[in-house]
Amino acid sequence: MPSGKGTKRSKKKSLKLFGHKVTVEDDATLLDRDRWGEYDAIEMSIRLYHKMPQSKRREVLIHECLHAVCDAIGEDIEHKTIRSVAHGLAQMLDGYLKKV
Ligand SMILES: [Zn+2]
Repeated sequence: MPSGKGTKRSKKKSLKLFGHKVTVEDDATLLDRDRWGEYDAIEMSIRLYHKMPQSKRREVLIHECLHAVCDAIGEDIEHKTIRSVAHGLAQMLDGYLKKV
């Protein structure tokens, strides 16, 4: 069976954080652990629940990126602050993307 570009279902992507590659991939098991997303500092990976609306996915990605940034700079920011900042940034971005 041919498996040319575009036929593969994997949604694994990556982003750069302070020069390090952080993989971003879907995970169908996160809700079993009551999570929408997860950052793994050892694996340098972010996992996102695979069935989220785009706006929620964006907020969770920003949230997990903030965890990654805090880990990289050695800052221990309260989780409720990370949640609030991620929510605010996601709303800003959603509003911006609707205008472009
Ligand atoms: Zn969190």
